[in-house]
Amino acid sequence: MTPLKQILLEEIAANGPIALVDFMQRALADPSHGYYMHRRPFGATDTDGGDFITAPDVSQMFGELIGAWLADLWMRMGQPSPFCLAELGPGRGTLMADILRAANVLPDFSAAAQVHFVETSAALRAAQKHLVPRATWHDTPATLPALPTLIIGNEFFDALPIQQYRKQTNGWSPVLVTAKDNNLVFADGEIEVAPFSDALMACLPDTVEHGDIVECAPMVETTMQVAAHHIATHGGAALLIDYGHAAPACGDSFQAMRGHGFVDPLAEPGLADLTAHVNFPLLAHIAETAGLTAAPIAEQGRFLEALGLSLRAQQLTQLSPGREIDIQSERHRLAAPQEMGSLFKVLGVAHKDMPMLAGFLPESM
Ligand code: SAH
Repeated sequence: MTPLKQILLEEIAANGPIALVDFMQRALADPSHGYYMHRRPFGATDTDGGDFITAPDVSQMFGELIGAWLADLWMRMGQPSPFCLAELGPGRGTLMADILRAANVLPDFSAAAQVHFVETSAALRAAQKHLVPRATWHDTPATLPALPTLIIGNEFFDALPIQQYRKQTNGWSPVLVTAKDNNLVFADGEIEVAPFSDALMACLPDTVEHGDIVECAPMVETTMQVAAHHIATHGGAALLIDYGHAAPACGDSFQAMRGHGFVDPLAEPGLADLTAHVNFPLLAHIAETAGLTAAPIAEQGRFLEALGLSLRAQQLTQLSPGREIDIQSERHRLAAPQEMGSLFKVLGVAHKDMPMLAGFLPESM
């Protein structure tokens, strides 16, 4: 039994069941036992101790294309200097390291960029400092500097805690976590009448059937509000990539990964990565409410191809012909619909005075 499971069982015995959102928060971010506080989650295979692999670790091409996207946007927005280049939840720092390397072709971009990381984990901050020593760290986007700001976030929002509600005839019952036979199990809580924010209400599907699950994520909503407000005030844009749905949807997407496989999310709190799908229409709605413009939500595969993924793969192959098979398989992993290409979505939002964001083709709607 993990230490955190023991603690949660004792707390539940003393005080009763806890909300799913509190379970997820503790399992991921408990200061002593939380997953992101001590685990090294990322890795290519289960042999190096990682639990999952993200796009920046699949291929350098991911960060290079996003670096080119940022440098192009920075030029077209009038080359503000200095400007804030911020990343939400940078993990090991690979994405920003690849972005800065790619953007070296435009030395003025690199010189103008103040790099800011929003990261709560001390262990991951240390890893990020190793790869991107020039960064400044924040606990929340609320303290980003008052500068035109380009924000990126890859697999950040999926790591924030969610609360599930089950539709009942006369309201919604929150999903709770309780104890049974020395194990953690799900339970339904007492019915609530209107548990959702206005923003989430505006993004629910037209019909929600009895028994359907709706997921809400208060921390996702506040973080997006803060980021959108920052851009509305100081100018700039945000590029947010994650797995999730592009249209309003119901359903249980709460899941746990350990050693590159799915596991029971309640079995080993603190040792497994817990995530939920990101509600992209909700993120877009929050950005628009703050006065930003949102591009149509794109699929990752189409977005990366529009930015020149195939061309970059060709260039890399010419530079290292011996890596051709690897490079093609990285490209496939990032962009093929049956791999990360369709499940992962891209949201671009920008201040009203910004030029058009590249990569969001009409056919990706
Ligand atoms: N972007 C990286 C890592 C994704 S994992 C990649 O693509 O590989 C999620 C990241 O978000 C981790 O760095 C984690 O520590 C961070 N994180 C999780 N919750 C956070 C919070 N509430 N505030 C800031 N960072 C958080």
